[in-house]
Amino acid sequence: MAIKVITDINCGNYCAVGHPERPVRILKTVEKFKNQSELEIISENAQPIDESLLLKAHTKELIDSIKNADTDFDNDTPAYPDIYKYASVAAGGAFAAAMSALNGEGAFSLLRPPGHHSTKDKAMGFCYFNNIAIAAKFIAEDKGTRIAIYDFDVHHGNGTEDILLNQPLTAFYSVHEFPHYPGTGTSHIGNNCFNYPMPPNSPRVDYLKRLEEALNDLKKFNPSIVGVSAGFDAFIKDPLATQLLEVEDFYWLGRQFKKLDLPIFCVLEGGYSYELPDLIMAFLKGINENN
Ligand SMILES: [Zn+2]
Repeated sequence: MAIKVITDINCGNYCAVGHPERPVRILKTVEKFKNQSELEIISENAQPIDESLLLKAHTKELIDSIKNADTDFDNDTPAYPDIYKYASVAAGGAFAAAMSALNGEGAFSLLRPPGHHSTKDKAMGFCYFNNIAIAAKFIAEDKGTRIAIYDFDVHHGNGTEDILLNQPLTAFYSVHEFPHYPGTGTSHIGNNCFNYPMPPNSPRVDYLKRLEEALNDLKKFNPSIVGVSAGFDAFIKDPLATQLLEVEDFYWLGRQFKKLDLPIFCVLEGGYSYELPDLIMAFLKGINENN
């Protein structure tokens, strides 16, 4: 079975010296896809999202501040030239992946910048627009469809939580390291945001159990579609966290999503090790495996 990957190599056209959220994350992954024959990948070009959709998750002030970015949003989140253009395409890719899933074809959005730290009114933590939360709000509000977001990035998806908190037809599940950036996600909040913090250097088996626990809770919500904030920084060699997951654990995660037997779209968040292309590949193999 083929997998749809939504990407745009132009997202490699901005960078800051020494910044871990760098172009090779995408470019090396695209290269890996081209040089393999295990998975049939159908590549689709991402398009910028409409501003009306950005407004589903963000304030006009935030949108304008990204459009006219002239001072850095924080130390991690520079005011890159044309960042509005790149962030709009990343949001557009996630949105296209979600629409594809609604139409019965799962998809992976392979773009940067990532999104899950971006709140309604604040760009932070390498993130400008909250790609997955925009899609989630559209699906809940405009399609009237129950959507769960599962976030396995090692950092808490504080922005997604901020946008989806107590929003009808949505639920959010995040497994992450704590204490760690951004310092939130210690407990469940509201009626629909569920947090599963894990201490630094957690034994791998414990971390996998926690991922499974969150997934079992997600099933109880009975979603019609699942969006996955796919961050690969709980990997043992990731420079930005201290967790101990191995390549095969991302394959295992992909298998768990496949077993849900629901429409699924995935959106790349973090993952900063040199092995990122291998981790994404393992995850996609898992999600694409039959039986
Ligand atoms: Zn992360």
